[in-house]
Amino acid sequence: MSKIEEQYEKLGISKPVYEFGEKILANLKERFEKIDETAEFNQMKVISAMQKNRVCAECFNMSSGYGYNDLGRDTLEKVYADCFGGEDALVRPQITCGTHALALALMSNLRPGDELLSPVGKPYDTLEEVIGIRPSKGSLAEYGVTYRQVDLLPDGSFDYEGIKNALNDRTKLVTIQRSKGYLMRPTLSVARIGELIAFIKKIKPDVICMVDNCYGEFVEEEEPLSVGADMMVGSLIKNPGGGLAPIGGYIVGKKECVENAAYRLTSPGLGKEVGASLGVIQSFYQGLFLAPNVVSAAVKGAIFAANIYEKLGFKVIPNGTESRHDIIQAVEFGNKDAMVAFCEGIQAAAPVDSYVTPEPWAMPGYDCDVIMAAGAFVQGSSIELSADGPVKPPYSVYFQGGLTWHHAKLGILMSLQKLYEGNLVKLEDV
Ligand SMILES: *Cc1c(COP(=O)(O)O)cnc(C)c1O
Repeated sequence: MSKIEEQYEKLGISKPVYEFGEKILANLKERFEKIDETAEFNQMKVISAMQKNRVCAECFNMSSGYGYNDLGRDTLEKVYADCFGGEDALVRPQITCGTHALALALMSNLRPGDELLSPVGKPYDTLEEVIGIRPSKGSLAEYGVTYRQVDLLPDGSFDYEGIKNALNDRTKLVTIQRSKGYLMRPTLSVARIGELIAFIKKIKPDVICMVDNCYGEFVEEEEPLSVGADMMVGSLIKNPGGGLAPIGGYIVGKKECVENAAYRLTSPGLGKEVGASLGVIQSFYQGLFLAPNVVSAAVKGAIFAANIYEKLGFKVIPNGTESRHDIIQAVEFGNKDAMVAFCEGIQAAAPVDSYVTPEPWAMPGYDCDVIMAAGAFVQGSSIELSADGPVKPPYSVYFQGGLTWHHAKLGILMSLQKLYEGNLVKLEDV
């Protein structure tokens, strides 16, 4: 037994599982090289943006109180703008999560009487209450902003005819979600987002196109702003925080859109001038610096998992060979025990809370039990290795993250180990 195999065995990975994993990996070399190229490209992009804006040690100083003249905060926003190709950016610890960042972008750029359009189907669950699809206090609907939705066609393509018909005088903002979230539709590539925006702007040039970029940052070499988006929005406890940011969200894009968001986040008249960065700003910089590499680890993990479980006969979305536009991997187990075993494996491989056993549990907002596996340094951080899913047919697990490729690999091998021990898969006949 090799020394590395011994190391895995100490952690509970048996020989058949390890060897199965190595066989799968042997076929992924070229794909992994491509992913490394993307990470290299994006690493240079981040460093260029940091150098151009003269990031210096003083940028890491803590500001308190009003946060006037916070060099670190203001410089970081310039770095984000340059890195992602926007005119301006808002990157703040006061933006509590992705949903908050999206709500902020929407509520600050829409006015009563305006209409919001989603041309890519139902948005992420938490946005239903922001928009008012599910009635909620303070929703856009309560403020007289109406909503229209055009679903993707059954084959996943855009319903151009439907979109053309939905655009009207009142359409002020179009929201485009890049990642599939918890739906089974395909994730949109930046190129496809560009085609959609070009179509929409041809009909209505002044409409604001916003992209929900959650889980998409640094997966490709391009980001939505370079294909015509006016705003892109995301969470710092996902990709761009690189696992180090302990909180935060961002909005990057057109100056006016960002300005509107800043006046809504703080106050009319104050905008970007206030907002102390407290002690977190260094982690924002360092996290962004690491993010291209961290994202590449997560993408490798997703592809490794897809190929393992596809080989074992499960349905995986995206499949083992598809190109990637976000870090999410779904595996449809069709069997509760297998789904639970998978999550137990992810948990058992974690650096934090590895000794706890994830159990299906009732969660607010869901009509069935949900199981979640996460052993994260930052609560709820989904750039760290994590898995979750609603415990009902078809028993799909959504799996994402991994701060390092080797941890993602261990997590996936451990999930396979649990299925193997539970006699839920056979490895010998593959
Ligand atoms: C995670 C996510 C959100 C919401 O972000 P939270 O930080 O969980 O509030 C919105 N849209 C998409 C596509 C996401 O993946």
